[in-house]
Amino acid sequence: MTSTAADLVLAGGDVLLFDDGWRVVRGDVRVHDGRIAAIGDGMPSQQSRAQVRDCTGCLVLPGLIQAHVHLCQTLFRGLADDLRLEDWLVTRVWPLEVAHTEESIYWSALLGAAELLLGGTTAILDMETVRHTDAAFQALERIGIRATAGKCLMDAHPEGAPLALAERTDAALAEAESLAQRWHGAAGGRLRYCFAPRFAPACSGPLLRAASDLAERFGASLHTHAAETVVEREVVARTTGMGEVAYLESVGITGPRAALAHCVWVDTQEIARLAAQRTNVVHCPSSNLKLGSGIAPIPEMLAAGCRVAIGADGAPCNNRLDVFTEMRAAALIQKPRHGADALPAGQVLELATSGGAAALGLGDELGAIAVGRRADLVVLDMRGPHLTPASPDPVSHLVYAAQPTDVRDVFVDGVPVVLGRELLTVSLDEIVREAGRCASELRLRAGVG
Ligand SMILES: [Zn+2]
Repeated sequence: MTSTAADLVLAGGDVLLFDDGWRVVRGDVRVHDGRIAAIGDGMPSQQSRAQVRDCTGCLVLPGLIQAHVHLCQTLFRGLADDLRLEDWLVTRVWPLEVAHTEESIYWSALLGAAELLLGGTTAILDMETVRHTDAAFQALERIGIRATAGKCLMDAHPEGAPLALAERTDAALAEAESLAQRWHGAAGGRLRYCFAPRFAPACSGPLLRAASDLAERFGASLHTHAAETVVEREVVARTTGMGEVAYLESVGITGPRAALAHCVWVDTQEIARLAAQRTNVVHCPSSNLKLGSGIAPIPEMLAAGCRVAIGADGAPCNNRLDVFTEMRAAALIQKPRHGADALPAGQVLELATSGGAAALGLGDELGAIAVGRRADLVVLDMRGPHLTPASPDPVSHLVYAAQPTDVRDVFVDGVPVVLGRELLTVSLDEIVREAGRCASELRLRAGVG
């Protein structure tokens, strides 16, 4: 190991590893060419060109992954509180999405990505709105987060949806294909495209089937919402005559390529079906609680062998994009249903690491500190009063006690994006100023807020 070349060394921290379970070793993580080259003790003398970052007193963990967010909604934060999903969409979120411009999408994406990176989320699966997705990709390219994003596909009119959001089927698919050609695999593979039908009630069968075929052709992900509310479940049953999981399977939105956000209202048979398909379920506990949607049966899904990831969803339904909040909520909301030992910290952390990596189709590349994996790494300062005394099990502190401000450094592909709690790639002052201006203008255009 001492002869391994390195261009970055995270030195002397507690390194969080996963084999059969989580464990910690004190030592160095060495990065070469954007990948983890070695883990362990012993600093070789020949690494004079390496950047060495002292991580004493810190936990070094794999970059956290959120497999369901909407960066286009970051400017809507605080504009849609205390509404059930259907009213939230019709009276606030859809009119606001219609009012977006290229410029407001760009700053909305930068604002969301800044919050995510500063809080230790290094990779996301993002659903944008119907228009201006190219501007979101430009923002993601600039700020340095790992992102799989896609334009929202809608060609039907669920009750109350503005006509301006529903496109012709062929036009929606043509734009999605052209975005995939431009962005899937861009920035050295850091950016990828996903085909993102909004949800079954907003999409025709042919649109869903074509999105599935395109995802297959590009080797890209499918990203949609499923079984979020009782109303949605009833609409799908009425219009298709099928349960939602079965319907999505019938149009090809299924399998390891697909990530279904929510899955709150699924029964035992559907859980077994999701597990057999190896479809990714993305649990969004804060969003489900705030919109009053329900509590997803995550322990049942994990027991059945489902692949489960986690996500904050959008700023207007959370209202944070904080993976620590989501991990804590995921653990806590199951305990009144199943007992205090349900969904322990270690299992929750798997949702935000290996579960997220699988949902992005990058299960062999991300989600763990291991030689050969991409060097998406987070350094967490464990010396805050709320993280004291040091726990023999740092995963407990990580899930139940840590917060975004504990994140000291963030690396994506071995490139420093946050150092000493400062965003390096874009001026945070500029993001806050421009996002604030765009949000004011957007609210006027939409007549909301
Ligand atoms: Zn969502």
